[in-house]
Amino acid sequence: RALSTIIMASSVSIQLPSGTANVNTGLFIDNKFVLPKNGGTFETINPATEEVICAVSEATSEDIDAAVASARKAFKTTWGMNVSGTERGRLLYKLADLMERDQQVLAELESLDNGKPARIARDGDIADSVACLRFYAGFADKVVGQQIGSNPPTKFAYTREEPIGVCGQIIPWNYPIMMWAWKTGPALAVGCTVVMKPSELTPLTALKLCELIVEAGFPPGVFNCVPALGSVGGAALAAHPGVDKIAFTGSTVTGRKIMEAAARSNLKKVSLELGGKSASLVFESADLEQTASWALMGGLYNTGQDCTCGSRVYVQSSVYEKFIDIIKEKITAYKLGEGFDPESSAGPLISKAQHEKVLTFIDKGIAAGATPFIHSPRPRAKGYFVDPVVFTDVKREMEIVREEIFGPVICIGRFDTEQEAVELANDTAYGLAAAVFSKDGGQCIRVSSALEAGTVWINQYGLLSNQSPFGGYKMSGIGRELGSYALAEYTAVKSVLWNVGESAYWPL
Ligand code: NAD
Repeated sequence: RALSTIIMASSVSIQLPSGTANVNTGLFIDNKFVLPKNGGTFETINPATEEVICAVSEATSEDIDAAVASARKAFKTTWGMNVSGTERGRLLYKLADLMERDQQVLAELESLDNGKPARIARDGDIADSVACLRFYAGFADKVVGQQIGSNPPTKFAYTREEPIGVCGQIIPWNYPIMMWAWKTGPALAVGCTVVMKPSELTPLTALKLCELIVEAGFPPGVFNCVPALGSVGGAALAAHPGVDKIAFTGSTVTGRKIMEAAARSNLKKVSLELGGKSASLVFESADLEQTASWALMGGLYNTGQDCTCGSRVYVQSSVYEKFIDIIKEKITAYKLGEGFDPESSAGPLISKAQHEKVLTFIDKGIAAGATPFIHSPRPRAKGYFVDPVVFTDVKREMEIVREEIFGPVICIGRFDTEQEAVELANDTAYGLAAAVFSKDGGQCIRVSSALEAGTVWINQYGLLSNQSPFGGYKMSGIGRELGSYALAEYTAVKSVLWNVGESAYWPL
């Protein structure tokens, strides 16, 4: 299909370092950009300058109805069980190629809307997203059931793994393109259709990717994108009786609302990837130089706006002082800056609300008696920038130790014994990730087994792979993304029990 077949509902030209990008700001339904039924819009802001980038169409429940209807029609006609796995894989590979072709403009758009360095968006987020789509493209023709043994011999049974249907997907602002890929990849690979709601704080790359959906050749309705406010369009999608599954990444508070809406409407299948308060345990045998670098990366990557943020670090008392000295020295390499500056290693926080929330947490930490070490690269008049803060002398009851801050704040505490370390790490309602730093192999196995977390890193932090499942224990979520495990979130298992010769039992 030629791109000219897309109806241009409303388009804006955005100036980027590599040139001008045209972004269609309508809702994307049935492979067309359309205006919302009530004509509403919301503004998206550049967090580095606090200036409005543009207005974007805002979906309300009527538009969600239209998108769900389009996705249902596609599921029943051109997609779902009406298309071969080979074809689904071919289209996903094509989509990945197009994303790779457009990586620079997508990275710059992501940087403008989210604040993260364009270099990191391109080489990190987008490179991983392209690989994620290819990973799931490879699965598209390999989703098979099992043959179940025939016992007695007059019976034959097998299972089918069928696409679950229309999927609502609600994604956050911290990794807009990557969360898009993590969710669309497995859903489209198995034959589901999608209604995606990007975050109202970062809608631009999600809209740009819709053009690639058309260019790749996906039939109308297979993928729909409805920018909307969470409490309006997001809530309508979660509560929609025509949606068979809802997948969400974001805060635990919103995750709970989505699960409640799913339960009240049609008991749709739910997967939730929520917050965390992840701990790293640094034992005395660890390579302290390497560990300090991993700990800083874990706490400060993406300006700390990461659900696996390594926000708590516990260090064995015998090496505590030495470790803090190394951290203070290494943190000086951190370069907070604007996204288009190639020297920046981190950008501003996403919004005024997040900026205020993080600064309030820092004030509370100081008021509660924790000792801050603040690395201040340079003062800024504009933008939601926050200098990274390392707190020492923390106590477990402090709010900065218990609550997810979602900013560049690391709390460093101490422990004496292995048992105490594990107990401190697990003393949280969350369970997304944790890390162990030690040269003692037995200790690595013991401690990683005892940690209540969906991902445990050993002698590293923060690195995920498309092949390994990702998700939370406790209040960090339900279900798994990535790996082959994610396919189960988008399929329903059907048992087929086939009689090949036995007479009916009736009357008994
Ligand atoms: P949020 O959870 O409110 O937003 C995430 C997504 O959910 C967005 O697309 C939003 O529009 C949507 N949403 C909001 N309310 C909804 C509702 N009632 N029904 C359906 N969808 C809804 O996150 P936020 O308010 O932008 O950030 C607040 C906090 O959430 C952060 O400080 C951080 O602690 C956490 N957070 C976590 C992650 C993560 O990756 N786990 C991502 C973003 C935010």
